[in-house]
Amino acid sequence: MSRINTKFGTDLKKFGTVDFQACYNCGNCTAVCSLSTEEHSFPREMVRYSALGMQDEIKASLKPWLCYYCGECTEHCPQTANPGELMMSLRRWLTAKYDWTGLSGLLYKSFALTFIAMLLIAVGVIAFAFKENFNQETIMHFGHYFEMFAVGAVFALILTPNLIRMWWYVIVKPKVKADFKIYLNSAKELFIHMFTQKRALGCDDNQVRWFEHMILVFGYIALLFTTVFLDWFSATNKFIIVLGYVESIVIFIVTFHFMLGRIQKKKEVAKFSQPSDWLFVIWLFLMGFSAFFVRLFIDMGLIENHFWIYLFHIIVLVQWAAIIVPFGKWSHFLYRSFAMYFENIIASAGKKN
Ligand code: SF4
Ligand code: SF4
Repeated sequence: MSRINTKFGTDLKKFGTVDFQACYNCGNCTAVCSLSTEEHSFPREMVRYSALGMQDEIKASLKPWLCYYCGECTEHCPQTANPGELMMSLRRWLTAKYDWTGLSGLLYKSFALTFIAMLLIAVGVIAFAFKENFNQETIMHFGHYFEMFAVGAVFALILTPNLIRMWWYVIVKPKVKADFKIYLNSAKELFIHMFTQKRALGCDDNQVRWFEHMILVFGYIALLFTTVFLDWFSATNKFIIVLGYVESIVIFIVTFHFMLGRIQKKKEVAKFSQPSDWLFVIWLFLMGFSAFFVRLFIDMGLIENHFWIYLFHIIVLVQWAAIIVPFGKWSHFLYRSFAMYFENIIASAGKKN
């Protein structure tokens, strides 16, 4: 039996929702949503669940991840209940529910806490550099080890257990019977959606945004590979050096465009930015920007006298790896890809049984 929580709306407001309780259930939002189908009808259903506080149903649902936030539903809502932003808030809320540490929820709800965490990391990195007498070689060496270690640690300790919790809520608890073959056959969906986000193309007039997202994903993964596995900052191979420059330029140009969109607020998707949205784009921008200048300073022989640029880069990187990737908006990229995977498993299991 569903449990109803009348205080859910108040809790959801802390995750960014705007006036969804004004909804009078007309159904316009579902009618205009180009991603909503007969089997997967949204966002009205999610608005109703949220109004009634049906948290278990929301936790078991993948629908918030099936929305790509084009904002069309919001534009057509006669009650300005902003269903598009509600779907976004539900994704933040779900991220907090999947996270076993509880930190995601705390950081989403309190910007002050996020700020303190970011500050502590910055102080920690500077204290470490001070302890090492700002020795360039030692700090860059540790920086490279951190890059390698952070990727594995974040996945092993935070993101993998969280994905298991997500699987538990959407597959195990609702008693979806899927054999190993279904899991295996659906795996290609995971990678297709992770790298192409092709479902976003189903949103009307979304081609430019989709393209920008795709090159950002490729640019980010390629830069990660170049710095971690090809050791870009120490590389002497011309191809690796140029590759890193191109990747970092791609990242900071696309993220700059995203930031501009959020400042101008012309599109529905950019009108209601939460601190977590800002942190994501700003930090990604700073990563691409600072990585570019670190390498440029190395190539120009200026790094010794301007080591602060590397310190700045490593502070941004540690904050990104320790906060934004495991607990912030970066994790949406992973949960959304797995949502497509789980959705395929559920559909295949349904056809078989
Ligand atoms: S269009 Fe607005 S009022 Fe109508 S069901 Fe959707 S959210 Fe509710
Ligand atoms: S924001 Fe777009 S994709 Fe999401 S529910 Fe609304 S119309 Fe559908």
